[in-house]
Amino acid sequence: MSIQDRIFKIKDTLPGHVRLVAVSKTKPVEIVMQAYEGGHRVFGENKAQDLIAKQALLPQDIQWHFIGHLQTNKVKYLVPFISMIESVDTLKLLREINKQATKIDRTIDCLLQFHIASEDTKFGLDMDEAVEILESEDYAGMAHINICGVMGMATYTEDEQILREEFSRLRSYFEQLKERYFSDAPGFREISMGMSGDYAIAIEEGSTNVRVGTAIFGERR
Ligand SMILES: *Cc1c(COP(=O)(O)O)cnc(C)c1O
Repeated sequence: MSIQDRIFKIKDTLPGHVRLVAVSKTKPVEIVMQAYEGGHRVFGENKAQDLIAKQALLPQDIQWHFIGHLQTNKVKYLVPFISMIESVDTLKLLREINKQATKIDRTIDCLLQFHIASEDTKFGLDMDEAVEILESEDYAGMAHINICGVMGMATYTEDEQILREEFSRLRSYFEQLKERYFSDAPGFREISMGMSGDYAIAIEEGSTNVRVGTAIFGERR
């Protein structure tokens, strides 16, 4: 099956409110172009260096989502074009995004990344840390940040019960934050969860944004 066909097939199964981020990490621009030519416009990358290189070579109407660990010294290169930074996990990072966005008068859509997996290798906030960010004076003064929701990566497992528990925890974080801090912000509506192996379950648990790589582009080496 072609890349275009795989995207069509996946999109066919997604409810209308769920966005498909095609995760093109490690894949060359020619491969990304195959998806683009099939009409797809939303892509995800997890390394700033790679994203910067690809963005320069690919059509400018691609909506890029950044989904990896982001070092503050790379922020200034992404801010001019990034569509969403899904992986905000420190106040320091948010501060730098706001600083760079202010310079060019852009407002950047961001998600707070939560740690929901049992592996301790994955980045992300817990609820206390998220509250600390949202209640900080610093955050209150950030005019160029638009927090649109939450993101998380589940444990790498086929155990459906574990996946459901982790996804529903992320959804519950989303709902708590919505009630406490974003009740009058309709833009706070994203729950980014679900990858190739688990996106169907993630959608059942409330995902609005799935990040799918392998099921579109094949295995990465
Ligand atoms: C690589 C990656 C994905 C996609 O994973 P697949 O299993 O290839 O679909 C999704 N989210 C993040 C944060 C990733 O790094």
